[in-house]
Amino acid sequence: MTTAAASANIAAPRHDWTLDEINVLFALPFNDLLFQAQQVHRAHFDANAVQVSTLLSIKTGACPEDCKYCPQSGHYNTQLEKEKLLEIEKVVTQAKAAKEAGASRFCMGAAWRSPRDKDLLAVEEMVRQVKALGLETCMTLGMVDGEQANRLAAAGLDYYNHNLDTSPDYYGEIITTRTYSDRLETLATVREAGMKVCSGGILGMGEGARDRSALLQELAKLSPHPESVPINMLVKVPGTPLEDVEDLDPLEFIRAIAVARIMLPQSHVRLSAGREQMSESTQALAFMAGANSIFYGDKLLTTGNPQAERDRALFAKLGLHPERRTTCEDDDTHAERLARQAEQHARAERVAALAVDASV
Ligand code: SF4
Repeated sequence: MTTAAASANIAAPRHDWTLDEINVLFALPFNDLLFQAQQVHRAHFDANAVQVSTLLSIKTGACPEDCKYCPQSGHYNTQLEKEKLLEIEKVVTQAKAAKEAGASRFCMGAAWRSPRDKDLLAVEEMVRQVKALGLETCMTLGMVDGEQANRLAAAGLDYYNHNLDTSPDYYGEIITTRTYSDRLETLATVREAGMKVCSGGILGMGEGARDRSALLQELAKLSPHPESVPINMLVKVPGTPLEDVEDLDPLEFIRAIAVARIMLPQSHVRLSAGREQMSESTQALAFMAGANSIFYGDKLLTTGNPQAERDRALFAKLGLHPERRTTCEDDDTHAERLARQAEQHARAERVAALAVDASV
């Protein structure tokens, strides 16, 4: 990769990546790929800040969809304990605990094909009350139509999560109850309603390298890019059709994180499901490759939560710190926006200088 090409990747986000270009990135020597991803990362973000979200399942199991990776699908027998929609007070209690544990965003997920109107009333109230705590709010409720998206936006929902999961070609091997274009339509609807988009995929589902490239290509086609891009490593749950699928080499996973960082330079790339199974070294490499967001997990966070404790220890070892709550750009003062732009500009200049140094 030439310095000019590396600098071009640090510049404005692109939506026209070709598969050949993406495959070239994947094929770079590992150190070169990570160096380029670091350059892009440092041009747009504080390289040592990690956004921390907490995920709560507000309705668990018995989902009519047949996503082959998912223990919540009603099509598979995974011994999962099903739960009806949680009461609003319980959700708010958990959101408060998440905030005290350092989360800046509270994500609520329901195993639905799409929300029913009577459920939406409760969900809107959850959004209002969680937001009133000073947390960013995110929901994943399945497919939504324009009216539902507008209602969620009016309640104050900041982000809507809806993953593309995999490439268009491989998609039919994983889900048959909704189409790829259904997913794209929901993402467009969410964007039209004015919410931020969280969308990514799952790796290690038996897909090929070309599918991983094509997934990232589809995500990059979205304009604007999703603000948040979860990259999940499949968690193989007994009882699901993917329980015995071959493991993906962790270094391939790191490559995908790095390519996502380069192609989606302004998005938060989230190290998501599968993180608990990763070694500290793999997680450290993922942060180095440009991941800058994590889930603390779907359990209530308390000081006694071993996962949260392990995360805090890993942050300390790596010198990482939680990103301060990202304010809605519209809420920022002009001075704050100018200061942020100046900071980004200065960072881009420092990185460009680094690229020139490295090329001589
Ligand atoms: S729609 Fe969501 S909850 Fe339902 S099976 Fe698919 S991934 Fe699981």
